[in-house]
Amino acid sequence: MEKSKYEKIMDIATKRGFVFPSSEIYGARAGFWTYGHLGTRIKQRWENLWRKTFLTLDQNFFEISDCTIMPKKVFESSGHLKNFNDPLTECEKCHFRYRADQLVEEELKIDVTGLKEDALTRLMKDNKLKCQNCRGSLSDVRFFNMMFDLRVGVTGDEIMYLRPESAQSPYLAYKREIEALRKKLPMGLAVIGSAFRNEISPRQGFFRLREFIQAELQIFFDPGQINEHEEFESVQGYRLKVFSEKKVREISAKEMNEKLKFPKFYVYHLVKVQEFYLSVLKVPESKFRFRELGAEERAFYNKIHFDIELDLETLGGWKEAGGVHYRSDHDLLGHQTGSGEKLEFVSDDGKRRFIPHVLELSFGVDRNVWALLDIFFKEEKERTLFEFPSVVAPVDVAVFPLVNKEKIPELAEHLFKELYKNFNVFYDESGSIGKRYRRQDEVGTKYCITLDFDSLKDNSVTLRERDSMKQIRVKAAELNIVLDGLMNEGKVLKDFGKFIEAEPEK
Ligand code: ATP
Repeated sequence: MEKSKYEKIMDIATKRGFVFPSSEIYGARAGFWTYGHLGTRIKQRWENLWRKTFLTLDQNFFEISDCTIMPKKVFESSGHLKNFNDPLTECEKCHFRYRADQLVEEELKIDVTGLKEDALTRLMKDNKLKCQNCRGSLSDVRFFNMMFDLRVGVTGDEIMYLRPESAQSPYLAYKREIEALRKKLPMGLAVIGSAFRNEISPRQGFFRLREFIQAELQIFFDPGQINEHEEFESVQGYRLKVFSEKKVREISAKEMNEKLKFPKFYVYHLVKVQEFYLSVLKVPESKFRFRELGAEERAFYNKIHFDIELDLETLGGWKEAGGVHYRSDHDLLGHQTGSGEKLEFVSDDGKRRFIPHVLELSFGVDRNVWALLDIFFKEEKERTLFEFPSVVAPVDVAVFPLVNKEKIPELAEHLFKELYKNFNVFYDESGSIGKRYRRQDEVGTKYCITLDFDSLKDNSVTLRERDSMKQIRVKAAELNIVLDGLMNEGKVLKDFGKFIEAEPEK
């Protein structure tokens, strides 16, 4: 049987060093993954693009980093200890555990959003649902808290928790940072870091993890100014792709605000999120949409909530990669009450006092990395490749000596060292040139450079582009400029030379 696209990508991902199960030699545990050398590169590139896009939206947006282990009180105040629960059902025979809502949705093809444990239990009983593994009976549904706790200190007296979302860190840092940043709103505090959730059934491979990375920006703002944004005019004609009434519609930012009554501050950031996917990451338009969550689906404190969804073939369709959440004053108010510390904003003249509201731009880094693998994977007759845009490709350029003879390897190594200063370069001298090209295509390397006997004479090299497999001849000394033009200035191969007749790639 032919492998599924998921299996094909996972084969490459594990063998070539993108991602593989963590602690594998001791038997991997579901929901824990290692980024290999190529996966780490893509992740870092994605994170840096995220920083460049969102931290430059305002001079008052900054990144912080924090501990992932936090006191119990933090999560009493945030509501996670009480509310961060998933419905669990267990097979009474083989003891396999399921997320009850997912199981019911999968089996009955209905939407059960917002149903409580009793209603889920009834649905399972009425429809005689059984364990998918052994057909055993399933237990009544009960809620299960998804946070990991741990004991801290020599006597282990204190129970602390691993943060289930990075967002809590900026709320806890608010008091210090609003002072340090001279009391200006909006103020943005971003975190790129790990979060932990004891997911009941992390079966979907690299999608639902127990330890994962989030990139989140918390924007603290004055609720009195929610329908204002200095730059709204510049985006008002931008057409947002919004899923509603069973199809994706294009709605201008202006219409979102004037007709649908979403505040300007919120809509402006929706535009910036869509631009990030379409213009920076080059995700095809047909694979991106926002989906609004209704009151029964979103967290109780979110007043407006659009998910960022990507159409991922490997995971069966539209999947959540992030969200834009208007969290109101819920978090700061909760922490003010819980800690007894004043978390108000007080204007310099002391006349205005209020708890800032928060707009959260939230992204799961791992899901976004997997989305890049899914979206840019391509199969051709002779090869498989990732058609990554240059900005996220894990390797920019590979350097090959055609043969290990005369002075060709020395020249190639010299070139490798030259290019290494500016690009992610890989050196490979083993196997036929055709095989070496295939290996680089398979991991998405955008360009390959081959040095041959002519290179010894005139210092020229062959430059081959991944997607078209077209080749040109250029001077080695010009490569820094040529590659910079191709990768950063939107130039194409033709701008630097005529295509040459290439040998068939064997
Ligand atoms: P889901 O509905 O898929 O469980 P969520 O709505 O609970 O996700 P949020 O709490 O809004 O997710 O977290 C923000 C982002 O963090 C998500 O959009 C997702 O990209 C990422 N994320 C959440 N849970 C996980 C997980 N278990 N593994 C990987 N990424 C996750």
